[in-house]
Amino acid sequence: MSKFAEVAIALPVDRVFHYAIPEELQADMAVGKRVFVPFGPRALVGYVVGLTGTADVKDVKEVRSIIDKEPILTEEMLKLARWMGRTYFCSWGEAIEAIIPAGIKKGKVELGTRLKKMAVKAAEFPPSTPHVLNEEQSRALKSIVECIDRKEYGTFLLYGITASGKTEVYLQAIEHVLKAGRQAIVLVPEISLTPQTVERFVSRFGHKVAVLHSGLTPAKRFLEWKKIRDGKAVIAVGARSAIFSPMKNIGVIIVDEEHETSYKQDDVPRYHARDVAEERARLNSCPLILGSATPSLESYYKAKKGDYKLIKLTKRIDERLLPKVKIVDMRMELATRKRLAIFSKVLLDALDRTLKNGKQAMIFLNRRGFSTFLNCKKCGFVMKCKRCDTALVYHFEERKLLCHYCNYKMEPPDICPNCKSSYVRYFGLGTEKVESEISHAFPHSHIARMDSDTTAKSGSHDKILGDFRTGDTNLLVGTQMIAKGHDFPAVTLVGVVSADVSLNVPDFRASERTFNLLTQVGGRAGRGEDGGEVIVQTYAPGHYSILAAAKHDYEKFYEEEIVARKELLYPPFINLVKLTVRARNDDLAARTAQRLAQAIAAETKTMAVTGPAPAPIARMRGYFRYNILVKGKDRAEMCELLKKVLGKFGKPAHVLIAVDVDPIAM
Ligand SMILES: [Zn+2]
Ligand SMILES: [Zn+2]
Repeated sequence: MSKFAEVAIALPVDRVFHYAIPEELQADMAVGKRVFVPFGPRALVGYVVGLTGTADVKDVKEVRSIIDKEPILTEEMLKLARWMGRTYFCSWGEAIEAIIPAGIKKGKVELGTRLKKMAVKAAEFPPSTPHVLNEEQSRALKSIVECIDRKEYGTFLLYGITASGKTEVYLQAIEHVLKAGRQAIVLVPEISLTPQTVERFVSRFGHKVAVLHSGLTPAKRFLEWKKIRDGKAVIAVGARSAIFSPMKNIGVIIVDEEHETSYKQDDVPRYHARDVAEERARLNSCPLILGSATPSLESYYKAKKGDYKLIKLTKRIDERLLPKVKIVDMRMELATRKRLAIFSKVLLDALDRTLKNGKQAMIFLNRRGFSTFLNCKKCGFVMKCKRCDTALVYHFEERKLLCHYCNYKMEPPDICPNCKSSYVRYFGLGTEKVESEISHAFPHSHIARMDSDTTAKSGSHDKILGDFRTGDTNLLVGTQMIAKGHDFPAVTLVGVVSADVSLNVPDFRASERTFNLLTQVGGRAGRGEDGGEVIVQTYAPGHYSILAAAKHDYEKFYEEEIVARKELLYPPFINLVKLTVRARNDDLAARTAQRLAQAIAAETKTMAVTGPAPAPIARMRGYFRYNILVKGKDRAEMCELLKKVLGKFGKPAHVLIAVDVDPIAM
């Protein structure tokens, strides 16, 4: 008989704790249940991860009580959580806490009680039946189905251009899985968790689908979770955290739009849902399908190497043509019109034409908080760090240009080092400015603006889009918010004010983001029968990510980008871990970061340490922040080393250190 329980606790302590099981609790004790245990002066909720006959300490304390009648975690989920702890630099308990729904975290809710009364809304969507697949789709489905039947793990990268029918392949793979009595998880980015997406799944599978999105209250989320656990729902469709759905016999996992950055969580544990999905597929011996029209460099690289099976869908279902993309060289605007303008003549003319034809246009302005890079409006030259190949950021307080990777600093030049012109300017444009310029040029148009300011009030988001849909407004100006998912058939023109902003974000993924963004924005034009036109303004018309996006040529983009990544040693060729040191005192933060970087470097020969450098947003909520980047070959080995270094690092009080494995932003 096991006399002791091994308990994981959601604290940043990398170990399990032993507790004696009192006589009266012996019969009820089981792995996967929650227990109340004494911890210092407090009683905490812990998770039973194992039972053992011997304890690792002498005067072992007793479990106070058992919370659950039935285990809330399966062995598989416990294994998954442990893997997360090792991979993402958190404790087993913290990982467990992340995978169970908030509704049961408090240790109060007893499974199977009062929540039963809350009815789930019945399916409101008309039923649909499987479509006939074209040859490409059939072939894709066949190899996935074979993998399902063999009960084997395997990752498929389903790379299909927009409207090539990826979803129908997902649906039929799921159908096959259900027939075999197994279950399915489908991840979609939060932003695409719209009624249209949900409809595809609910129409086909009705009440068998549980939908998990961030809008659910903890109680509702818990109800959906329970539906899945009890086997009443066999398909989970949801955002990031749906990967933790309590299924017991998973037959397929699907991650749609796998390149989306929203799959990465930015709190502890800082996991990437795509990677967790891969581990879960492995634990369940089932296929993982990653779908995208613009796969992440990491995934496409693995597919090319043969780690993933690459399936291509190259034909559009409705044979609709991709929109024509025109690149406008903004350097020419300065040369011919002798002034710095926001809008090119080409874009103004196209807008005029569109409005006269009674059609609609979208004007897209990519803005990311700190777009203070320096560029020459005459030749397009951008000041970059020679070592890191990312744009230098202008810091107003210091009046210096600074590299956010390696901390290289320089005085901003007054004249362009490339062409000697004096048209060197800081980049920075707001949606408001764009809106006012445009209303000046087109006084009779009805303009709506959509950004974080205009959508702050609840309901305003839907109102802006609703007015545009009905045609009450005919020009929509906005940030990345308007880039995704919306289908407006009357939009025939999409204008991108400046592709340079995303291209010069100080991030090694800037080119990839730009390519994805332009592809996505371009996809907004010509959803209707009239076709569409996309106009992209830029000071870097020769940049491969812009050229490839204009030609809808992912392969071309990949070939160029992968070379750059290899040369400068960025993922997928190495793994990155970012350590952020922050404190309210700038000097203290800087000194601690410096000391930490040295401590890490002293401990390793195989990993490269860069920085510390101020974070791109150097000061946030009163904290001064410094980043250290560690590059290495093996993620687990890197975590191991960092745990060791941080374990003996004398961290001053009032300094916080965050560790982010595979960071997606600096
Ligand atoms: Zn120049
Ligand atoms: Zn640098």
